[in-house]
Amino acid sequence: QAKRNGRNGFELFRPEMNQRNEQRLRLRAELRKALDHDALELAYQPQLAIASDRVVGFEALARWNHPELGPISPAEFIPVAEESGLILPLGRWVIRAACRQMAQWQAQGLAGFRVAVNVSARQLRDAQLPEFIDATLVAHRLAPERLELEITESLLLDNAETHIALLRRLRARGIRLSIDDFGTGFSSMAYLPRLPLDQLKIDGSFVRAIPGDGEAITTAIIAMAHHLRLEVVAEGVEDAVQFEYLRRAGCDVMQGYLLSRPLAPEQATAFLHRHVAGVDPLAAAAPAAA
Ligand code: C2E
Ligand code: MG
Ligand code: MG
Ligand code: MG
Repeated sequence: QAKRNGRNGFELFRPEMNQRNEQRLRLRAELRKALDHDALELAYQPQLAIASDRVVGFEALARWNHPELGPISPAEFIPVAEESGLILPLGRWVIRAACRQMAQWQAQGLAGFRVAVNVSARQLRDAQLPEFIDATLVAHRLAPERLELEITESLLLDNAETHIALLRRLRARGIRLSIDDFGTGFSSMAYLPRLPLDQLKIDGSFVRAIPGDGEAITTAIIAMAHHLRLEVVAEGVEDAVQFEYLRRAGCDVMQGYLLSRPLAPEQATAFLHRHVAGVDPLAAAAPAAA
């Protein structure tokens, strides 16, 4: 069943490709099962406001621990979900699970911070998304400002007008919007002032290049974001040198292993309790990863 290029009969379909395809199909079937059996989990990575030293939020990150294959990275299963259409049910599961967790925290008096979820391009083509989010927030008695959607920059390249219209509908409800992996998507910066945004997240690759080339880039992104009245988050902050550079450059929020790895829900709860008790989050030793 090798496919042939019409012009010269060059073999396009090699055995390795076949194997990779089979792996993807297997993963797709397993992912469908995992969604049916509610077998995915969320890990929560804290975010710290640099000036006030306060925990202002968490990023919810999807986790899949397969009973036989072991932990599978989102870098592997999110693309599979996207190309199979499973990203729609997966994306809704993530929003529901994050809201359920926030409601549990709220019931324990742990509030005053937000939770960010990652949203794929395909989800923004779902005209029902704002209503789904509304219903979920109402069901859990959460203020819309407590939920943040992270959208990757490259997503804004295609179908910009349709996406912008949907983003406006979301933001009109009070939901916060953030551009993820900023600086890696080569999107036209001309779009930026027109987008209904609250936040830019500087991609971790630039943070990792501090000290060095990352300094000029992060400084420029911070200046531009502030001109546009956007909050800036640096992700992937791993050491004190990077942190100190970003602090001096006026970065608003930091996220990364220096503060904490992504945490299982119970660990995130403990992290919040320590923070409420007044323990300096950066001084306290980071618990083990989720
Ligand atoms: P992202 O949204 O840019 O998330 C940040 C990634 O960097 C996460 O990887 C996080 O664990 C990792 N990270 C955090 N701090 C550090 C650090 O200090 N150093 C380093 N080296 N890495 C750090 P993760 O959890 O493997 O997720 C990878 C990507 O998968 C995410 O990138 C996001 O694009 C996607 N993803 C994860 N969960 C979801 C989801 O629920 N829905 C969608 N659509 N995409 C998701
Ligand atoms: Mg993200
Ligand atoms: Mg990112
Ligand atoms: Mg990323």
